[in-house]
Amino acid sequence: MQKYNVIFKHDEKSKALAKHLIERIGKENQDIDDPKTVFVIGGDGTFLIAVHHYMHMIDKINFVAIHTGTLGFFTDYQAEEIDQCIDDYLTVVPSVAQMPLLKIKIDKQVFYAVNEMRIENVYKTQLIDVFIDNQLFETFRGTGLCVSTQLGSTAYNRSLGGAIITDGLSLLQLTEITGIHHKQYRSLNSSLILPKDTKICLTSVDFDKAVMCFDHKTIELASKVNIECRLSTKKIRFAKYRNIPYLKRLKNLF
Ligand code: NAD
Repeated sequence: MQKYNVIFKHDEKSKALAKHLIERIGKENQDIDDPKTVFVIGGDGTFLIAVHHYMHMIDKINFVAIHTGTLGFFTDYQAEEIDQCIDDYLTVVPSVAQMPLLKIKIDKQVFYAVNEMRIENVYKTQLIDVFIDNQLFETFRGTGLCVSTQLGSTAYNRSLGGAIITDGLSLLQLTEITGIHHKQYRSLNSSLILPKDTKICLTSVDFDKAVMCFDHKTIELASKVNIECRLSTKKIRFAKYRNIPYLKRLKNLF
């Protein structure tokens, strides 16, 4: 049997489900370092942690997620369906849905995100020159900017008033975080949806006190001046044992 691992949220319910899963699939088949399938038990946050944990070998792993709350965008099973999930894993050959990650390059460092990257500065007005495919598009002034994937469209992007993108569409969305708009300063003030091969570069002469958040992670930008975002060739692989329509998930959640 192929090796698996399970990443779970540290609450009693998720712990108990993980214990049950390991008992049924077998401790001897568990491999923390080199699993082919990773079960995630918890919520969206647990899923993001699991993906980042295995980022170095993301192309080799199939994720199956079980939500201990409601049905999510990353999760196909709810807690009470744990045995159905295990039966499917043991008896069904899944199809694999692949979704690209966001690749963020800052100087020579590379980061990957499932949902989005954000530049945020809560201390002072942040100026950002936005280049789209090497052409200056605008100079933004405000708290920051968010670049999200299709998967991330229902996350932070949605709170910013960005559009929800149905699954199967591979693209990028650029959304403002409290932009300043008046006679003197003007930026788009609307979310911008761009084709999947677009390169977005965000530059500033001063990123002092600004942070770059990517999913649940954060780094300080300080003297770094050039941030490049595009969809990566690296993809998250979801093992699909059942087909849950996107609009059903959306209706369930919102
Ligand atoms: P977290 O893990 O506590 O998540 C915050 C909320 O965002 C939770 O309700 C979670 O279920 C939801 N969420 C995460 N990814 C989602 C997705 N793809 N679709 C729909 N809902 C999603 O918070 P964290 O660890 O600080 O950050 C992780 C992610 O949470 C970030 O990538 C960000 O998109 C999101 N987030 C959203 C807001 C907001 O909407 N105002 C605020 C903070 C974080």
